[in-house]
Amino acid sequence: MAYDANNIFARMVRGEIPCTRVHEDADTLAFMDIMPQADGHTLVIPKVAGENLYETPPESVAAAIRTTQRVARAVQRAFAAPGLVVTQFNGATAGQTVFHLHFHIVPVYTAGAWRPHAREKADPAVLEEHAARIRAALAAG
Ligand code: 5GP
Repeated sequence: MAYDANNIFARMVRGEIPCTRVHEDADTLAFMDIMPQADGHTLVIPKVAGENLYETPPESVAAAIRTTQRVARAVQRAFAAPGLVVTQFNGATAGQTVFHLHFHIVPVYTAGAWRPHAREKADPAVLEEHAARIRAALAAG
């Protein structure tokens, strides 16, 4: 499948549609998942076009992983999460629904108690409050 330059994450990178940001640098963007599977569910994307892990330049994957590590630490601290999972899906069969490479950072509070994937939109005010907690944890180092 050819990369669709109008997928929602590409449009966020270009600033065409809003997202609740927690971090941005020259190569990556991190923001709250609009349908979180747990409080604090955050997404990290490289800014370059790439549908999945196979199609994205390795240096961009490396930048996204560096941001994922940094943001995961902040999410863990901000939510005092006893567990945390990082996932990344390749292909609709694997569960991918947005075809621009992204890493999910999902805190785990109770084993097996996640909400369903990409199902229920969160209150934007709650997402902003969660993002503020993560930004504060990032700022604290
Ligand atoms: P995938 O299913 O491709 O691994 O993950 C895509 C994720 O993007 C899902 O968890 C879904 O909730 C999230 N998502 C879908 N549309 C939007 C949107 O417009 N904004 C944000 N912030 N997240 C979205």
